[in-house]
Amino acid sequence: MMLRLVIGAALAAIVAAAAARARLLSVTGAVAATVIGTAAVTAGWSWGIVLVVFFALTSALSAYGAERKRALTRGILAKGSTLRDATQVISNGEVFAAAGILWLATGDPLFLAAGGGAIAAAAADSWATEIGIALGGEPRSIISWTPMTRGTSGGVTIAGFAGAAAGAIAMAGTMLVIGWPRAVAVAALFAGMLGMIIDSVLGATLQARLFCPDCGTETEQPVHHCGRATQVIRGVRWMDNDLVNMLATLSGAVIAGILFVAGA
Ligand SMILES: [Zn+2]
Repeated sequence: MMLRLVIGAALAAIVAAAAARARLLSVTGAVAATVIGTAAVTAGWSWGIVLVVFFALTSALSAYGAERKRALTRGILAKGSTLRDATQVISNGEVFAAAGILWLATGDPLFLAAGGGAIAAAAADSWATEIGIALGGEPRSIISWTPMTRGTSGGVTIAGFAGAAAGAIAMAGTMLVIGWPRAVAVAALFAGMLGMIIDSVLGATLQARLFCPDCGTETEQPVHHCGRATQVIRGVRWMDNDLVNMLATLSGAVIAGILFVAGA
C-alpha cells in the first residue's frame, strides 16, 4: 500500500501537470487532482484506472465543440471555460476518493459500489451538460417543463439525458472490464442516472439563480461578466453549482450502496 501511495502520487502529479499544460485544469485544480488521484491509486490500481478513464473521457467531451458551447453559454455558466478549478475537481472527485479509502480500510464491497455510484453520477452529470449544450435544443426545466436558457442549471434536453446515460454506461463498462463485481457495475449505472436527475432537480430548485440588473439576464455568476454584482432571485445564495455537484455525487454513492445491498 505504501508503494502504491508513492507511485500513485507520482503518477497523479504527472497526469495533473500534463492536464494543466493542456489547459484542462487550473493550477489549484491540478493540485486537487493530484490529491484525489493519489487517494484513488492508494485505494487500489483499479480505482486509479476508473478515475483516469473518467477524467480522460470527460475532458475530451469538454473540449468537443468548446468554442460553440462557450458562445452559447457566455454570461450564464459560473465557470465557462474548460479550465477546471480545485472546487470543481473536489466536488466531482472527493466522494469517490473517500469511498476508495473506506474500501481500503474495510475491504467491504459496499464501498466499491459507493465509489462506483459517485463516479458514475459525476460522469452522467458532466456528459449531460457537455452533450446537452452541444447537441440539445432549447432546454426545459426538469420541474416545471418551461423553456430555459442553454447552460442554466436544472434545464434538461433529450440529448442531455442520452449523454448522461452514455456517461453512466461508460463508467459501469469500465468497472466490468477491470473486474469489479457485476452487481457493483449495475448499481453504479442506475445510481449514476439517478444522481444526474437529483443534480438537475437541485439545480432547478435550491441552487441560487442570479440576475444581472444591468443586462436584464439570469446568470450563475456572482459577479456578472459585465462587472455588475448580481441579485438572488431564487434558491439559496451559497448553493452554487459545485455544491450541487458534490451533493449529486454523494447521492450517487448512497443510492449505489443501497442498490448493491438490496441486490446482494
Ligand atoms: Zn450583466
